[in-house]
Amino acid sequence: MKKKTVFAITVGVLAAAVYLRHVFFKGELPSEPPPAICHADTLSAKPQPQPLPYGLVRIRDMDTSILVDLKYATTDNFTGKILYPCAEAYLQRETAEKLYAAGQYLQSLHPDLRLLVYDAARPLSIQQKMWDAVKNTPYRKYVADPERTSLHNYGAAVDLTLSGRNGKPLDMGTAFDHFGEAASTVREDELLRRGRLTEQQVSNRKLLREVMQKAGFQSISGEWWHFNSCTLAEARRRYPLLSGRDPLLVNNTASLPDTLPAMENSRQQ
Ligand SMILES: [Zn+2]
Repeated sequence: MKKKTVFAITVGVLAAAVYLRHVFFKGELPSEPPPAICHADTLSAKPQPQPLPYGLVRIRDMDTSILVDLKYATTDNFTGKILYPCAEAYLQRETAEKLYAAGQYLQSLHPDLRLLVYDAARPLSIQQKMWDAVKNTPYRKYVADPERTSLHNYGAAVDLTLSGRNGKPLDMGTAFDHFGEAASTVREDELLRRGRLTEQQVSNRKLLREVMQKAGFQSISGEWWHFNSCTLAEARRRYPLLSGRDPLLVNNTASLPDTLPAMENSRQQ
């Protein structure tokens, strides 16, 4: 048989195999990847954030569509005091890349929704101030002891919610940093039955968890807004502790009040 004939038969057999595979296994073949969503006004280009000390990057440099309302740079937090000297939010680069992925996934599902960050990297000096505010109160269980450190102190955790494009947060049933059972992520069914949460509030929380978990974050049981990028042991091994000497994050002189407001009541919506 001539070489040309052999070649033609081979090509024909391969083409037929491909055709038949499509005909008989149509439903099982992997579908084409969805087309990329490219709204210049909503989605940022491939992020190339500037590397900063401690391996941190600024969230704004990673993705301008992610909104930031850094609560500890305002008085709207459980201490009632400004703890951060500036309202910029930072994360470890790997954590920020996951957050970028979560934001992209959210917008593929709901183009009008945004991630709204409440807290990110947190220097140990600020962790100490938070701990000092609650360590002698029943609320100590809601704040990590700086002796043990928090994933925030490595830039490997983020607190956030969902919002519209205008930054108006979706209703999650409690405010950020609510000190009480209604912030629980594992008792939502019970809270729904008792009427403490509505179906819409639970649905909003589930959407937040879905996009964050899809990007590789883990939620925790006690706070719907908090997500870890890795375990504390991994963070200790891989990232430097934010000791608080970094001029990006500290130079804070704010002091805490001697007494705290009745947090359980004041933080409820
Ligand atoms: Zn947190």
